[in-house]
Amino acid sequence: MNLDDTVVCVWLVAGFDKPLHYRVPASMREMAKPGVLARVPLGRRQSIGLIVEAGCEPDLPLMNLKLVMDLVFPTPIMTPPLLRLAAWLRQYYGASIQNVLETMIPGPVRQGMRAKMEKWVSAAEKLDAEGLASLRKRAPKQAELYEFIAQQFRPQKKSLVLNRLGSSPAAYKALLDKGLIKEEQREVERVAYDDELGNVEYASKQEIVLNDEQQTAYESVAQSLDTGSFVTHLLFGVTGSGKTEVYIAAMEKALKAGRSVLFLVPEVALTPQTVGRLRSRFSDQDDVHAVVWHSSLSDGERLDAWMALADGSAKVVVGARSAVFAPMPNLGLVIVDEEHEPAFKQDETPRYHGRDVAVYRAFLENVVCVLGSATPSLETYRNVKRGKYKVDRLTKRIDDRQLPMMHVVDMRTEMMRTRKPTTLSSLLAEKLRDRWEKGEQSILFINRRGYNSTMLCPECGHVEECKHCSVPMTFHRSDNTLKCHLCGHEADVPWRCPSCNSEQFRGKGSGTQRIEDVVQKVLPKARIVRIDTDTMGRKHLFREILGGFRKGKIDVLVGTQMIAKGLDFPNVTLVGMVDADLSLHVPDFRANERTFQLLVQVSGRAGRGDLAGEVVVQTYTPHAEPIQFARRGEVDTFLDIEFESREQFQYPPFRHLVRQVFRSRNADKAMFFAEQFARKVEARMAGKVELRGPTPCSIEKMKDHYRYHIWYFTQNVSGLMRELKAIEAEVPVPKDVIYIFDVDPMSVS
Ligand code: ADP
Ligand code: ZN
Ligand code: ZN
Repeated sequence: MNLDDTVVCVWLVAGFDKPLHYRVPASMREMAKPGVLARVPLGRRQSIGLIVEAGCEPDLPLMNLKLVMDLVFPTPIMTPPLLRLAAWLRQYYGASIQNVLETMIPGPVRQGMRAKMEKWVSAAEKLDAEGLASLRKRAPKQAELYEFIAQQFRPQKKSLVLNRLGSSPAAYKALLDKGLIKEEQREVERVAYDDELGNVEYASKQEIVLNDEQQTAYESVAQSLDTGSFVTHLLFGVTGSGKTEVYIAAMEKALKAGRSVLFLVPEVALTPQTVGRLRSRFSDQDDVHAVVWHSSLSDGERLDAWMALADGSAKVVVGARSAVFAPMPNLGLVIVDEEHEPAFKQDETPRYHGRDVAVYRAFLENVVCVLGSATPSLETYRNVKRGKYKVDRLTKRIDDRQLPMMHVVDMRTEMMRTRKPTTLSSLLAEKLRDRWEKGEQSILFINRRGYNSTMLCPECGHVEECKHCSVPMTFHRSDNTLKCHLCGHEADVPWRCPSCNSEQFRGKGSGTQRIEDVVQKVLPKARIVRIDTDTMGRKHLFREILGGFRKGKIDVLVGTQMIAKGLDFPNVTLVGMVDADLSLHVPDFRANERTFQLLVQVSGRAGRGDLAGEVVVQTYTPHAEPIQFARRGEVDTFLDIEFESREQFQYPPFRHLVRQVFRSRNADKAMFFAEQFARKVEARMAGKVELRGPTPCSIEKMKDHYRYHIWYFTQNVSGLMRELKAIEAEVPVPKDVIYIFDVDPMSVS
């Protein structure tokens, strides 16, 4: 044994939540650096692990340490800042080592998949005219193949050449044997570029000159890029103000300085136009090479993309939240478009928030981060107010196009008139008809986030709220009571509306299918297409529909707010929001914020071309703040009011919230252990954390499991998580009771 052997500290992907030490044999010492994946023995098995530190102080006598068996790839798959990010994820989100590694490193990389090789061919020797003539005479097939290869400037894929000319492998082999051509092995390039995004044509680069506001915003970001250190900007611009062009200008600057760019979007499939525009700008530049990182990449594509990023040959990655972990060695700029979108939050452990991780990564990398939105989250807004983020504003739409005019239809009056519950108001029906006659297009949004169980009076719009919190009570069908999910307060269900005495008081809901039918009745000849979860799952169908809509083959598109993101259809002049209330009266302190964002985003889809747009919002609560401020386009005022109300209740972003959710098939057991846990935390952290619960979750039963949650409010998440992890060891929760932690939850149902 050699006492000079380097000792490395390894995180294993093996359900073993402690770093282990290994010795590195001399032959591997040069390469066994932090960020390299290694195969190591673990008991009698072997496991893959990530070297997180080299040259560490061993925790066992050297002779007791086992040897690293071999390295999966010769180069690091994680950069030093990413290793620090991993440590932070583990601590902040209370995640296990295995969980962090599985989140950060894609499966095919983790499992040590090998890059596939393929053969490329080029001419080895130049035949003169005479030689070529004689080859033609003796072996015309070979001559044809040789000529084709010799005409190419660069090596070509062997398979492609043979297919193209229909040549036989025998002719190819003969040329090879004669030394006229040569072949080389290269890694298969599998990076996917699927370009069927509805055949969208994107403005080519020359046509775009930034307007004054865009230029000012760009210069502000450029200045931060020049400082070469961590600065976060909020690009706060109304819908259609040209935020993407500002991102692109900033990206070009970073690339020119030899740096790489990370660009996050809420969901690749739902933002085809933003992705398409970036791709058309960057992927055809040989030296840039943009990678689009999305969930439908094959394993091979994923491996190649990762490796291309890790070795710096790809300099731009565009993707949804998991792209935030892309191994870019020379990162210079991080961009998060639509930063307010809940889709950035992962709904499986470690439940990280892509935007928050992006900002933290920019901090660790000491680079510029740009967050963009028309309706910033309260979290981001607070950071602007505190002076932590710079803000750049775009107040006008491109070419001074008008923001659409928003009509709010009071469905109570509508119902009084028609004497029955209505899905489509006469105003919306009339405007739909008008657009169809003019050959213009409409989009109808259904707000799917709502529950059926909110008590909403269809006559006066009254919603039953809790006495102790500013949230609606939830109707529980099982025991016919109203409950508050924040504080547990219970009340009897009123038989009549407490506000107007109406007997119509009851739960409410609606669906896409019904809307489609109703619209078809109003416009029997119109081409109406519905997009729902089924369509979303089928990538091609979804694309086909969007493509058809763009080409004018569809008159009315009906869908959930999922399709509201980033779509830019110039011929859409009417947008209808069928049930604006549904996201308003959910028991969630973000209900107002979400509704407001939704209305602004949705109405942002109208009037993006030369024709002006109109928006019709149907609601039973026309006076509600989110609706009124969205109608007037007063984003700042809304944010300020919401800000104050959050401050008053000390909700996020004024404190962090950590939610612990227990579930079990056995309701009593789940409640019992939730109580146990809560008591332990109270005893141990008295005065350091505000704890609420346990109370039943609003979705009390999910997949036959009964659910209870505890809420912890804190200023110091890492400190709280450390304590909670320590308490875990002291509360023996049985296997049939499961619990999870959700740090900074985006949904509290
Ligand atoms: P946002 O992301 O702010 O909603 P986009 O970036 O999608 O806005 O821009 C809206 C439209 O305006 C796009 O079609 C884009 O190509 C176009 N556009 C942006 N900037 C300019 C400009 N300076 N000159 C002309 N067209 C522009
Ligand atoms: Zn009423
Ligand atoms: Zn309450």
